Order: sequence, then C-alpha cells, then structure tokens
Amino acid sequence: MTPVRLFLAFALAGLATASLSGAETPRPSRGQSTGAKPNIVFIFSDDHSLQTIGAYGARLSAFCREQAVTPNIDRLAERGGLFVNSFCGNSLCSPSRAAIQTGLHSHANGVMTLNKPIKEGLWTFPRALREAGYQSAVFGKWHLDTTKPEFDEWMILPGQGTYNDPLFHRAGGDRKIPGYTTDVITDLSLEWLKRRDRSKPFFLAVQHKAPHRNFIPPPRYATWLDDITVPEPDTLFDDYANRASPARNQKMSIAKDMVLETDLKVGGRLGREPAYAVRNADFERRHPTGQDLVRWKYQQYLKDYLRCVRAVDDSVGRVVAALEAEGLAENTIVIYSSDQGFYMGEHGWFDKRWIYEESVHMPFIVRWPGVVKPGTRFTPFIQNIDYAATFVELAGGKVPSGLHGRSFVPVLRGQTPADWRQNIYYHYYDGGHGVAKHYGVRTSRYTLAHFYETNEWELFDNEKDPRQLRSVYADPGYAKIVGELKAELSRLRQVYQDSDAIKPGGGKAGKTAGKAKKKQAASGN
Ligand code: CA
Repeated sequence: MTPVRLFLAFALAGLATASLSGAETPRPSRGQSTGAKPNIVFIFSDDHSLQTIGAYGARLSAFCREQAVTPNIDRLAERGGLFVNSFCGNSLCSPSRAAIQTGLHSHANGVMTLNKPIKEGLWTFPRALREAGYQSAVFGKWHLDTTKPEFDEWMILPGQGTYNDPLFHRAGGDRKIPGYTTDVITDLSLEWLKRRDRSKPFFLAVQHKAPHRNFIPPPRYATWLDDITVPEPDTLFDDYANRASPARNQKMSIAKDMVLETDLKVGGRLGREPAYAVRNADFERRHPTGQDLVRWKYQQYLKDYLRCVRAVDDSVGRVVAALEAEGLAENTIVIYSSDQGFYMGEHGWFDKRWIYEESVHMPFIVRWPGVVKPGTRFTPFIQNIDYAATFVELAGGKVPSGLHGRSFVPVLRGQTPADWRQNIYYHYYDGGHGVAKHYGVRTSRYTLAHFYETNEWELFDNEKDPRQLRSVYADPGYAKIVGELKAELSRLRQVYQDSDAIKPGGGKAGKTAGKAKKKQAASGN
C-alpha cells in the first residue's frame, strides 16, 4: 500500500467509526444502564500457542478437546468466531504488548526488545476509550517496564511476576496477594466488575502471566495428565537441514536448552515439592538419555504447560459466568488472545521469536452477540497493531491518524474492505536465545525472511511445506516469487518507515542487546 493509499485506509477507518457511533444502536441489556455502547472484556494470556486451543484445529487441538484443556475458550469460539490469520509483528512479550497499546510497529513505539518502556508521549488506546466515555481497568501482566498504564485502574505484575503469591504494582503502592497468579488476576478483575461505575460502559483487560515459562501449574492440576501421553510433533528431532544457519544456531531447543531443574522441576527446591514427586521418582528410576531424554522432557514440559493453560481456561469460564450473572453477556464483547505463538516441541523448540508459523501466529477469538455469527472462522489477515484501532472503533471513539494498524471492526461485521491487507510485516530485533535478528513478510502462501546480520534469506512455501522444513529461496522455480516478495518487503518497510538505521535502544544496539540478554538470562525468558 502506498502512503496515499494507507492514508485513505485510515480515512475509511474513520468513516466506519463515525457510522458505528452515529447510526447504530446496539440492544440495551439488563445491568448496562447506558445500553448504547458495548462493553469489552479483553482476556490476554502470555505465550499461549494456537496448537493448544481445541477450537483452532491445530496440531494438538484434537488432544486438547479430548482432555478438555480449553473447553471455555472453545465455547467462546463456538458462540463467536476465531481468526485463523492473526499475527504479531515481533514475536516477544514486551514488543507485542507495546504494539497493542499504541497501534504501531516496534520501531515506532520504541519497544523493539524486552523490558523497554513505550516512547514517551505516544498515544495509547485507553486514552481514546476514556474520551469515548468508557471506564477501563487492567489486572495482571503488563511487562512494559516504566510505562504506566493509561487505564483508569490498574494492578500489574512487576516484569514477569510470579506464579504464586504475586506482588502487584498499583497507583496506591505495592500489594502482595496470596494465591495462584491466574486465579488472583481473575479475582481482581471480577471484584472490579462488581464495583465499577455502572453509569458507564467498560473496557476490562484480564492479562495473565500463564502459561509463560517456567510453567508452574496450580495445585489443583498438579497431577492431572500424569497418566496421559501427549502426542509428539514429527519434527521433534528436526536436523535443520535445507535452511539458513539461524535455525541451527538458536538456543531454544528442548534437547540442549530446557533446564531440568528450573523448567521441569527435577531436583532442586521445586523438585522436593509433593506436586513433582512422581516426576522426580520417575527420573531417578529411568535416568533417560539421548532421544529418550528429549521425549521425557517433552512430556513433562507439555503437561506443565497444559496445566497452566487449563487454569487460564478456568479464568475464561469464570469471567463469562460473571458477565452472565451480571446480565452483561449480550452487550459485552469478549476477546481471547495471547501475545504471540509458542513452540510445543515443533522443530525441537520451546520458545517463540521467529517469523516461522508456530511463533508468528496469535490466537484471536471473539464473541460478539448479535454481530459475529457463531462458529465463524475469519480468514482476513489481522495483526496486533490493529487491536488499538479496533477497540476504539468498538467504543465509538476517535481513531487517530498515523497508526500502523487498522480497525478490523468491518471484518467482524462481515464487511471486509476491498483494500484489506494481504500480508503482514515482521521484524524481530532482540537476538535473545540465539535467534538471529530478522525481518520478513508472511503472505497467504509464503514466508520470506531476511537474516540481515549474516545476509541470509529463506523462503517457505507454506502450502507445499506447512511444517517449514525446506527453504526454497535458492530454487530457480521460485525466482519470480522471490523477486515479487522482496519488492513487497521493501514496500512495506517504506510504508511503515522502518529502516536499518533504527536500532534498539536509540543507536546503542550492541550495548542494549547485551543488557537485554543478561536480563533474559536472569528472568528465564
Ligand atoms: Ca509472551
């Protein structure tokens, strides 16, 4: 899209906003005295993969349905819809969160790597919600360093926070609350729902820490799945042949980089807890090695992860039940999303960061009674930069010009604009876990990635090679496609005004990257 067309798209988004706020009057409901504007509940988890959501039809979806891992999230999708082409622009916690708050890609919002604040003075969407007459609150994981939420009320975990007895930052001073973090965040959200100002519509963000590493489940699910075998991916022992060097050089493999003591609670302080007794005894008895050890680690990892996910799903169930009990279900849009995808052992990995499939996708499920037809599978491309404009348009507020994202409210209404985006731009700057910096473009069929530090390229034909095991960049049969996609990538970089001159940390790339790596090592991110 040229800058002029981009401007037109923003102008059209503005017109759509006007029509929503002016011409349409959603049904009023019991418990929502203003009636005219929908409430929005945004349930947002950390590192929840599509593969582990029953509704998505991904690798472990059938297993998740059989074991009832995500029944409440699945029900949201059945009563509403899900986006099969929902993406992030930089697959990492802080950058994804900043893109959501600002509607801008990382290089423009300042959060290119972990643990950075949003550039001072930038617009964030809660401001527009307030101007539109909404009250807003956020509880849980924030992970935007010194950036204070612009929500009316907030209680946020410092950095990664803890799984048990979490400490929260809030405007009135810190507060430590006993309990399991996912449950505590839900409790806080539901308490706020009860004491909110009933004369105004609301935006409530329920932001979970789970299922982020180091995957500590709640006691109620400590032994659930103990006797079950989780299906393995057929790429668990990927040899990274037929690809550029970064896939081989990463440090996020279950085999080499997953730590028995901290990630899997084998030995050490956690290993002595009763919840991990069976696992530790099994390890002592078998002492698995080689591929057996990788398989053993995979099973423990997946089970802990799924136990954390099930607690998040409980939260979704509690939130929906509370909305129904308050008479708010009909006039409240409920969204479930997570900040990026995650590897569940595919390619032997257990992290994110890549433009590759399992990492670049974000779940996005939305229930909007009376508008989104139950069971809809949306195929238009949406990205986290779109959330801010979407939220503001849903609230009938004013979407500012100059955002990189665009409201997908028309898509939700079944009226996808003719000039809707056909691909997404991606740029990962962090370099952590040995994942080389790269930018690229993902279209409906292809993924083109440029690892610019070593000037290596990869092209995947996701139609013929959905598991992305063979780069066809050098295949003469794809030369024409490579040329077209490179031109498209240049165009996207121009539209978004990204350039090689923009470095994380304002030009001190090396120093910043070094600091970020130390922080990751400390936080286990
Ligand atoms: Ca994350």
